[in-house]
Order: sequence, then structure tokens, then C-alpha cells
Amino acid sequence: MIFRQLFEPVSSTYTYLVACEETREAALIDPVLETVNRDLALLNELGLTLKYTIETHIHADHVTGADRLRDLTRSQTAVPEKSAARQVDVAIREGEPICVGTLRLEPLHTPGHTDDHHAYLLRSTGAWRVFTGDALMIDGCGRTDFQNGDAATLYRSVHDKLFSLPDETLVYPAHDYQQRQVSSIGQERARNPRLGGGKNVEEFVAIMTALNLPRPKMMDVAVPANLECGEVRNA
Ligand code: FE
Repeated sequence: MIFRQLFEPVSSTYTYLVACEETREAALIDPVLETVNRDLALLNELGLTLKYTIETHIHADHVTGADRLRDLTRSQTAVPEKSAARQVDVAIREGEPICVGTLRLEPLHTPGHTDDHHAYLLRSTGAWRVFTGDALMIDGCGRTDFQNGDAATLYRSVHDKLFSLPDETLVYPAHDYQQRQVSSIGQERARNPRLGGGKNVEEFVAIMTALNLPRPKMMDVAVPANLECGEVRNA
């Protein structure tokens, strides 16, 4: 397997490249519009064909590079069905793996940050990896106060679908504001200050309710664009 973790500094977003060494097919999880040229250069350098762009959810903090990458490489946009996004090539549902050559990404419906949110489990030889999007971050999690977010729902998603994975599963989040790169299910279950360490759902809901976060600056641009797979209209 070929694997790369790529960082976009304005929104602190991680984009993940996963590719099959035999077929040279690749997928990009959560690509960002501003870094499409970087991603294309990397695909070229590694001799890969982009088969899919895959979204964890409809982002409010950046515009996806999915539509631009589709225009430039004929990749297919894979987006959770529940998002109701348009111009989608592959509607993602739990139970329907996305195959990239010999690799299988298994969607796990993990609502709570948004109602369409999916994490992706990759059971490769060696350590398993889970791309946790904004459901579970290193020592944190995504906010639950807009886009049909709900703290109790996120608690259930993380505990039932993510903390049930083996301890050594590597956790790759969609963001980290301190550029920490990777964690594990065991580490987050033990010490995530919001969701781990035996915290119950009432404690988690109280923590999330007290956050009082400002509205994301990009939200009014990013959400409508991402509902069109990142097509930005100049009208
Ligand atoms: Fe998000």
C-alpha cells in the first residue's frame, strides 16, 4: 500500500492519499481545493491514477478539491449519500466498501458532528488505519452545534463504531490544529479529554454545550460549494 498524509495550513486539514501498489489506483480522502496542484504533482510523481475523491462529510471550513480533481483527472466523487450533495458519482453508505485496487475502505456511519459523517476503516496488513474525519480527533473531536450536529449522537458514534476497534488501530483525523499527525484507538479511548477516560454521555454533552464556539468563517461559502462537490460558481 502507498500512504501519504498531507496538510493544508489555512484550515489545518489533513488530506490522505491511499493507493494500491499493484494496480496504481489511488483515492484522496478529504482533498482541499487550494492544494489540488500539490495533490496532482504527488499522484504524478508516484505514477498513480486517481480513482476516487472521498469525503468524510460536508465540510464547513474549506472547499473540497473533488470537483476540480474530477475535471483534471476524471476521478469519481464519493460522498456520503445522507449529505444530499449533488453531482455525486458514488453515494457512500455503511456496508458498501469502496475498493481502490486491492484496498478496501469500509465506511462507518458516525453522525454527531454532522448527520452525514462517515469514517473509513482500512484493514491493511500490519496496522489497521481509521480515517476519523471530524468525529474523533487527537485529544478532541469536531463541534456538534451546527449542520444537524448532536453531542449525544457523536458520543454513541465514537463509542460504538470507533472505540470498538482494536487498540492498536491508527487514528488519522481530518484536522489537527497543532499538527499532531496520528494517534491510536487505545490512546483516544484512554485519554481523549472529551470522549475517553470513562467519560459518560452526560459529561460529554456538558463539555460540548459549554464550548460556545464562533461561527466558522468559511461556512457560507464552503457548505453550498461542498454540496456541489466543491464546484465554485462565480455568478
Ligand atoms: Fe467538519
